[in-house]
Amino acid sequence: MRTLVLNAGFEPLAVVTFRRALLLVFTGKATVLAADERDPVIGPNHIMPRPTVILLTRYVRIPYVKNVQVSRRGVLRRDSHRCAYCGRNASTIDHIVPRSLGGEDSWENLVAACHGCNSRKADRTLAQLGWKLRFAPSKPRGPQWFITELDRPAEAWSPFLRSAA
Ligand SMILES: [Zn+2]
Repeated sequence: MRTLVLNAGFEPLAVVTFRRALLLVFTGKATVLAADERDPVIGPNHIMPRPTVILLTRYVRIPYVKNVQVSRRGVLRRDSHRCAYCGRNASTIDHIVPRSLGGEDSWENLVAACHGCNSRKADRTLAQLGWKLRFAPSKPRGPQWFITELDRPAEAWSPFLRSAA
C-alpha cells in the first residue's frame, strides 16, 4: 500500500512508500488526511494507522512541466472511462482519424471508446459515419498526469482525486 501525497493546494503531487510518508509526517512537512486503521504501522515506540493520503504543509512549486507521454491508460483516465461517442463505460481507446488514414497516436487523436462504438467505427472517419465527439480531446495538464500510479488509483485515494480528474 502506497501513500498519495497532496500539495498544500490539495492537488495530487506524488505517490510514495508509507515509510517516506511517515518521515514527512514526523518531520512536520505533512499531515495525515486519511489512514488505514486495519493495517497499522508498528514501530519501536508507537503504533499508528498507515497513512493512505497526506497533505504537505508547504506548497511545492513545480518548476517545469514537460509534455505528458500519451498512453492507453492515460487516455482512459483523462476521459474518465467514458466513451467519447456515446458516453457509456469505455475500456478501449479509439483513433479518431484511423491509423490506416494516417491518424497519429496523440492526445488529440485518441479517445476512450466502448466496445460497441469502437467496432462499429472501425476504419472510418467521423464524417463518414456522421458521428460527433462529446468533447474535444486535448493534452492533459498538471503534475497529477505524471503520476502513473493514478492511472489505477487505490480506493482510499478516490475522495481526494475527484477535483483533479
Ligand atoms: Zn460508445
